[in-house]
This record gives sequence, C-alpha cells and structure tokens, in this order.
Amino acid sequence: MPVPRSCAVFLDRDGVLIEDVDYVRSMRQVHVVPGAPEAVARLNKAGLRVVVVSNQSGVARGYFSLRTLQRINAALKRRLREAGARLDGLYYCPHLPPAKGRKPCGCRKPGTGLVERARRRWGIDLSRSFFVGDSTTDLQTARNAGCKAVLVRTGKAGKDGRYRVRPDAACPDLPKAVDWILGVLHGS
Ligand SMILES: [Mg+2]
Ligand SMILES: [Zn+2]
Repeated sequence: MPVPRSCAVFLDRDGVLIEDVDYVRSMRQVHVVPGAPEAVARLNKAGLRVVVVSNQSGVARGYFSLRTLQRINAALKRRLREAGARLDGLYYCPHLPPAKGRKPCGCRKPGTGLVERARRRWGIDLSRSFFVGDSTTDLQTARNAGCKAVLVRTGKAGKDGRYRVRPDAACPDLPKAVDWILGVLHGS
C-alpha cells in the first residue's frame, strides 16, 4: 500500500543521523550513527518525504562558520548517498536561543518555522507526519507542529530535561524508529 506523498518524516541531525558531540564543529567529528543511512533509504523507498531540521546555534556562537556547517552537511549527504539514501530537505537554524532583549528568530526548535517551510514547499500534511529526535526539544517541536513525536535513545536519549513531553514512541535508534513509523503507516 503506497504512503501518500504528503507524509513526511522530519529528522533531527545530531544524535539521530550523526553522533551527538555537543556542537559538531569539524569534519573530523562527523560520525554517522550505525544503520542510519540505510534507515533513511527505507523511508525513501516507502515514498515518505525526509527532511532534516537542525538547531545549529554554534554558528551564531562563533564555534564554527556557516561554511563549515555546510561542509558537514555535505559530508552527511554524501554518506547517505553511498547507502542509496537521500534527503528531500535539510534545514537549519544558525541563530542564538531567545534571550531577553533579543527578538526570537522564529526558526529555532521548538519553533516550527523550518517545519512550516518544508510543509509549504511539498504540501506536507503535518498531522500524518513524524518528527524523530533525541532531545525533548525535538519532541516539543513535534507537538507544536502537530506531528507524531518519536524519541530515539541515541544522542541525548531524551535526558536533556528541557521540556516535559511524552513521545508517541521511544525507540533505541533510527532504524527501530523507522520500523515503528512504517508499522503505523501500514497499519500493523
Ligand atoms: Mg539532537
Ligand atoms: Zn533561527
């Protein structure tokens, strides 16, 4: 049974696709989570949109340049391609967290600015979509956007304690999260 093209799986980057090291600052720190590229390929094959949504305030903090961020993202895409996987979109927020006296940027998670951008671009039905992440910020983003929230126990494993959100599913890693998502969509 084909999945409607309006279904999407949003993925956090650090702690889901690549190992979370608290600000991935250089190419040397790009370690792909085992099985993640193959899991993305399965989503592609199932006909789901796959969109990465990532907070990268390290740019605004001066930890790394936009150019470095783009090179890290390109390396990730290359690794995905080698496994026959591809992303429909990769969005990031390079801004600082909201603070007193500073206007919020509107795209940093748990804000839904980046999810909205993808929704408009591909006509995504958020109520039939999923957000997979390793932090409670990702779970809160899912809630704010009206997607199903899927926690993976790689990376921060949901232990950052920022938001009190219960996930719709908690899975050991992205491959298992994809099993769950495809099970839901195919009604098993
Ligand atoms: Mg993360
Ligand atoms: Zn932003």
